[in-house]
Amino acid sequence: GGRFSKPTTPTRKTTFDDVAGQDQAKREVAELVEFLRDPERFARVGAEVPHGVLLVGPPGTGKTLLAKALAGEADVPFFSTSGSEFIEIFVGVGAGRVRNMFEAARKAAPSIIFIDELDSVGRTRGTGLGGGHDEREQTLNQILAELDGFTEREAVVVLAATNRPDVLDPALLRPGRFDRHVTLNLPDRAARRAILDIHAKNLPLEDTSDLDQIAAGTPGFSGADLKNLLNEAAIGAARRDASLISRDDLDEARDKVMMGTVRTLAIRP
Ligand code: ATP
Repeated sequence: GGRFSKPTTPTRKTTFDDVAGQDQAKREVAELVEFLRDPERFARVGAEVPHGVLLVGPPGTGKTLLAKALAGEADVPFFSTSGSEFIEIFVGVGAGRVRNMFEAARKAAPSIIFIDELDSVGRTRGTGLGGGHDEREQTLNQILAELDGFTEREAVVVLAATNRPDVLDPALLRPGRFDRHVTLNLPDRAARRAILDIHAKNLPLEDTSDLDQIAAGTPGFSGADLKNLLNEAAIGAARRDASLISRDDLDEARDKVMMGTVRTLAIRP
């Protein structure tokens, strides 16, 4: 397996148009596009651009999607990893993996690093009883060291995602580290409709106006939930051996996702 996902050349780049709603978050992240496209312009006049941006929001609200869209808009390589991978998969080598990834991103600069689930590796450190030798702490310390190690000229933007900013080690939030926060929210009705439109673009719906009802009847659904809903509906239509997705398929799919959501929430610690 790979050490972290290498920058890929997708057939189509993700752009801000792929992210429905989240206008404020998009605006804030868009400020980095200019910098990544032409870092010299900023370095020349001594402008300091933030290296660390924390994307905060509930699961499935598009944090990963927004990070990818920034990479697509700026046309720079995207290095991504997840905080949970560092401790679950790479036991004993987390700090080394962090070092490798930052080194690769620096070489490829301008570039973007994305760390999903920062909280799983970035929780408040212990009181020193473990002597700082704990695996997770070493990995966290390496991330902090890497963030501090950037020179002003290095055009690497590090985006990290979390739905638990409250448990993060305060050291991660100090100036020069993840000192910029961008919030993503669960979509309102209009945003849900826009998300459904994006993901239904290539689906054969019997009547696209059915999506109005679905948008109205799905408060609390995330973008990821809505995408699942459409896929469940398509599966339902296929099971009926139909060639169009009906209102019933959509309603049944909504109920399924709703039950699924309840289950997922129930087992979450
Ligand atoms: P998690 O915290 O669970 O990792 P996340 O916030 O990173 O979730 P994504 O992984 O980006 O969310 O979202 C999952 C999928 O849901 C996306 O790939 C996208 O297809 C869809 N999605 C989520 N939000 C939006 C949105 N605002 N517009 C369009 N699609 C969305």
